[in-house]
Amino acid sequence: MDPVALDRLTDLDSVLTQDEILTRDTVRQFVHDKYLPIIADHFENHTFPEHLIPELADLGLLGASIKGYGCAGINAVTYGLILQELEYGDSGLRSFVSVQGSLAMYAIYSSGSEEQKQYWLPRMAKGEVIGCFGLTEPDSGSDPGAMRTIARKDGDSYVLNGFKMWITNSPISDVAVVWAKLEEDDPKAIRGFLVERGTPGFETPTIYKKMSLRASHTGEIVLSDCRIPADHLLPKSGGLRSPLSCLTQARFGIAWGAMGAAKACFDSALAYSRERVQFGVPIASKQLIQEQLVEMALEISKAQTMNYHFARLKEQDQLSPIQVSMAKKNSVGQALKIARMARSIHGATGISLEFSPIRHMLNLESVYTYEGTDEVHTLSIGRALTGISAF
Ligand code: FAD
Repeated sequence: MDPVALDRLTDLDSVLTQDEILTRDTVRQFVHDKYLPIIADHFENHTFPEHLIPELADLGLLGASIKGYGCAGINAVTYGLILQELEYGDSGLRSFVSVQGSLAMYAIYSSGSEEQKQYWLPRMAKGEVIGCFGLTEPDSGSDPGAMRTIARKDGDSYVLNGFKMWITNSPISDVAVVWAKLEEDDPKAIRGFLVERGTPGFETPTIYKKMSLRASHTGEIVLSDCRIPADHLLPKSGGLRSPLSCLTQARFGIAWGAMGAAKACFDSALAYSRERVQFGVPIASKQLIQEQLVEMALEISKAQTMNYHFARLKEQDQLSPIQVSMAKKNSVGQALKIARMARSIHGATGISLEFSPIRHMLNLESVYTYEGTDEVHTLSIGRALTGISAF
């Protein structure tokens, strides 16, 4: 058995096109050559390898599913495969690409004016402009309708006041998509605004001491009487459906990405178990170890099959947000279990960054919580099944 034996058993390749396989293999090579050798140090040092952003752009990975505006315009399966390969490297790499493309760029693409799209998207696809997406606040996470950030119209400007918390890429962003209310206490009055770095009253302090997604920038957005031109409003945004439609895009990619992390953990556990000798034989010859490897392989195979099916539905515009919730909840929950099993199979060495499972395990705790917590997706699926809201 070699590390790609699981791919042969699942045999996803038999239903992929040559273009899909070629793109996946290109991204896989990039991750193996450029990213895997440096990720443990970046994770340990709490840094993101910004020097790789131009290469991510050259590979067409930023805003890859957007059509036009200098973006690659790839199909849903290719997008999923790309994110799976990126998260084989680290959730931090996948998060960077998800936030840039599926959150910041998609918000501009879906809710922006033609001028805003022409102005921002080509430069964001080239990685010259980094974006972030500010929805969560200190007092509103799962319930974004309770946000307190306010935008007050004042002549030809809006004046923004509020705090955003846990915002991926905010410390390095050139432009922030900020969600704010025009009227206090009215979730329907939520609109999107583009706030440029350098605007007085806009600060993005970094959040330190994270034990998860350490190789990713996470920060706050602090808005203190931050005055922006009125045409920085995203004109087609209106109500929570606007940020939620961006989150649906991102969650679809996360479902695929989490399986990349799971595969990395499986590959590491399989290789280690065949080499590690205890009681005179490789631990892979023990039934309890094999049972865990089989469980991991089955869950990866099942999740990939579900993700693939939903991706083809997405390509026909047939994918519902509830199906995206199913895929996100399933993939991330299973990936977390797989990472823990893989960590255990590595014994004491499993707590070292020399092997990937502990890093993926810690990252997946964030992925379990962001883009809708596991519990919130359970409630959404439960409501769809029963017709009764248990929120
Ligand atoms: P809460 O909503 O306070 O939830 C706490 C607990 O209560 C959870 O277990 C939750 O499931 C549970 N709970 C909540 N409501 C219910 C209910 N009705 N019934 C039962 N249980 C419930 N946000 C952004 O806007 N942009 C970003 O780029 C971004 N990046 C992030 C990066 C990282 C590393 C992390 C960790 C978070 C990021 N987030 C981002 C924030 C993320 O989306 C929120 O953390 C998430 O929505 C949960 O909100 P919360 O942390 O406030 O938890």
